[in-house]
Amino acid sequence: MIKGIHHITAIAGDAKRNFDFYTKVLGLRFVKRTVNFDDPQTYHFYFGDRQGTPGTILTFFPWGNAVRQGRRGASMATEIGYAVPKGSLGFWLERFRAHNIIYNNPAEKFGEKYLTFLDPDGLKLELIETNQPDPRKGYETGEVKEDVATKGFYNATLTLNDIKPTAGILTDVFGYALIDKQLNRYRYATTASETANIIDLVELPAEQRGIVAGGTVHHVAFRVKDDKAQMEMREKILAKGLNITPQIDRNYFHSLYFREPGGVLFEIATDNPGFMVDEPLEALGTHLKLPTQFEPHREAIEKHLVKLD
Ligand code: ZN
Repeated sequence: MIKGIHHITAIAGDAKRNFDFYTKVLGLRFVKRTVNFDDPQTYHFYFGDRQGTPGTILTFFPWGNAVRQGRRGASMATEIGYAVPKGSLGFWLERFRAHNIIYNNPAEKFGEKYLTFLDPDGLKLELIETNQPDPRKGYETGEVKEDVATKGFYNATLTLNDIKPTAGILTDVFGYALIDKQLNRYRYATTASETANIIDLVELPAEQRGIVAGGTVHHVAFRVKDDKAQMEMREKILAKGLNITPQIDRNYFHSLYFREPGGVLFEIATDNPGFMVDEPLEALGTHLKLPTQFEPHREAIEKHLVKLD
C-alpha cells in the first residue's frame, strides 16, 4: 500500500542559495514556489522532475541566514539518494569540482557506484549509478542533459540507535522487506513501486540524537495512491499504538504525520491532487502560490520573501 517515498523535506538557510544550488547545479525542476503553510513568512520550495512526480520531490524550508546549523545523528534521515544513469558520475564529479561542492570520491555499496556530496547547507546527498536501469526520465536543463540527469529518489537512509522498532513499521505496516545487509546497513524495499522504493536503516547504538535545523532532513513522506489508502494506513498505525495526526490538506497532497518508534518523523502523503492543481505544467514554479487562507495577505507575505530570479 505504501508506494515508496513521496517527498523528503529538509531545512535550509539562505533561500536564494538553496534555489540556485538545486535548480542550477543539480538541475532539478523548480516545481512549486509557495510558503510554509504553518509559517507563511518563510518559503516552501519543491524541486523535482518535470511534472513533480511523487518519488522525485525534495522540499525545503529555507529559514534564512540566521538558521541554526543542525547535526546529523540518530533518529533522523541522514542521507538522500538519487538515481542517476550509469556512467554519469564522471560528469557530476567535474561539475562539483567546478562549483566548489564538497564531495567524496566515488565508492561502492551493494555493488553500485555512488558519489556523496553536501549541499551548501551541509545536507548529505548521494548520486547512485543504479544496477537496475531506472525507467524515469530525468529533467533536462541547458547544462544537465537527460543522459546524466537525476531520475528521482533511489533511497533514503535513516540512522538509528536500534533499527528494530523502525524496521517493524517498515515491514509490518508499510509492506517493506529486508532485501540486503552490508555491515550495519540494512536495506529494506517494497515491491509496490519500481522506483524510490528503498529505505536503508543504519544502526549506530552510541550515536547521539540528531538536531533538526539547517542542513538536515525534517521528515520523510511515504506515498499512498489516494485518500482511501491513506485512511487505511492511518488505522494500521493507530493499531500499533502510535499517535498520528488527522488528515491535513497541503494543497498538492493530503498528509498525515507520525513519529515512528525510532524517532524519525514520517508523513503519509497522497498522489492526489498533485502540483498541477493551481498552475499548468509549463508554468510550474514560476509564480508564488499561496493557499486560499493566505491570499488576502499576499502583498505583506511577498514583501518578506527574498527575490529568487
Ligand atoms: Zn512533507
